Amino acid sequence: MEKEFNFHHQFLLHRLLLFSLLLFPVLINSTTTTTSIQHEQSEIISRFQQYLRINTAQPSPDYEKSTQFLLTQAEFLSLESQVVEFVKGKPLVILKWPGSDLSLPSILLNSHTDVVPAEHSKWVHPPLGANIDEQGNIFARGSQDMKCVGMQYLEAIRKLKSYGFQPKRSLYLTFVPDEEIGGHDGVEKFAHSDVFKSMNVDIVLDEGLASPNENYRLFYAERTPWWLVIKSTGAPGHGAKLYDNSAMENLFKSIEIIRRFRASQFDLVKAGLKAEGDIISVNMASLKAGTPSPTGFVMNLQPSEAEAGFDIRVPPTANVESLEKRLAEEWAPASRNMSFEFKQKGTTVDYLGRPLITATDSSNPWWTLLEEAIKKANGKVGKPEIFPAATDSRYFRQVGLPAIGFSPMANTPVLLHDHNEFLNQGEYLKGNDVYVSIIEAYASYTPPGRDSLPRDEL
Ligand SMILES: [Zn+2]
Repeated sequence: MEKEFNFHHQFLLHRLLLFSLLLFPVLINSTTTTTSIQHEQSEIISRFQQYLRINTAQPSPDYEKSTQFLLTQAEFLSLESQVVEFVKGKPLVILKWPGSDLSLPSILLNSHTDVVPAEHSKWVHPPLGANIDEQGNIFARGSQDMKCVGMQYLEAIRKLKSYGFQPKRSLYLTFVPDEEIGGHDGVEKFAHSDVFKSMNVDIVLDEGLASPNENYRLFYAERTPWWLVIKSTGAPGHGAKLYDNSAMENLFKSIEIIRRFRASQFDLVKAGLKAEGDIISVNMASLKAGTPSPTGFVMNLQPSEAEAGFDIRVPPTANVESLEKRLAEEWAPASRNMSFEFKQKGTTVDYLGRPLITATDSSNPWWTLLEEAIKKANGKVGKPEIFPAATDSRYFRQVGLPAIGFSPMANTPVLLHDHNEFLNQGEYLKGNDVYVSIIEAYASYTPPGRDSLPRDEL
């Protein structure tokens, strides 16, 4: 029994050894592949970290360092590069992957290099550290807005070049300054420049927002800021006297009316009838009144002037004329000694007077191509949205170009401009593949008319 057992045992051992030997090369091979993938991924993450660690926070971004970093990346990838400055010290880095068919217009992938400042003491990880926690979350200012996207464009190109992909259309990458302070010395000047005209751009991709669910978010328009100040005047008087038409009373009537409008718009969002970007939002930003005294304000005096400031965001779908009428007749009517001025009043139309909206239907092949490319890379797409705030996309739309806002961050809380901004490394890597798919589709796209031309001629 013992002998038999031994024999059986030896037989099994022999089989096991043989099996292991057969499997050995497979195991070695798969271990090598896993290691090389891990190695490649850690290099990708480390390049992202390097970019995040460059302090490009407003109000004094280190553009010199970011420019150097980007030019080095371009060199590694054999991309053509050019640095232009419309305002001294505010460089715009333009990288180019030339296409094989020069008769086709180009693709522009835009990202801004600056970030908003961070209150370091409110962060769990240092905002310039790009530390990775146990869940793989990369913490840094700019991890969502929008150094991720800028680096993902580059990583996608790296991958496509390694496949031997050759774009038909030229592909431009722009890394622009000052988006976070309005883009006036960056894209606003760039979009009207000869450099930009010579690029012959057909479609622009720019930033979007993170999505807390599994659907990526695509933006076809954005709300434009109207910064309104309303002023009231009235007879001054003793603080104990009740009388009509005081400046404060006039102002408060307006504030009450504006507050009701705000609530009615907000109710539409709360009821789920409209998205945040579809309504006109109004928030009071300032309130100025009172007669100063050494200890604060004179308390027994009703002032003769008062003013309030509002940040209003207007979607391009809104009826601007009716809003202007509402403003003049209800919010700051001359009948109540009110006047108003705009600190900023963005346009809702392009240079031809068309609403600043990028079409999301079949009339815009870029939209369809984008959705399909994302799906091809196993991404899901939500309903098209209007971006609630302003981005550089508006300057491209104003010169009549389609521009789509997209940052591939699903299952991610929206933390732009917030404390502890982070992006998960898995999500970041997934985003690279999404851009591989998008660039493949965009850079290969030929309008149907062009293909059929020779046949039509026959
Ligand atoms: Zn941004």
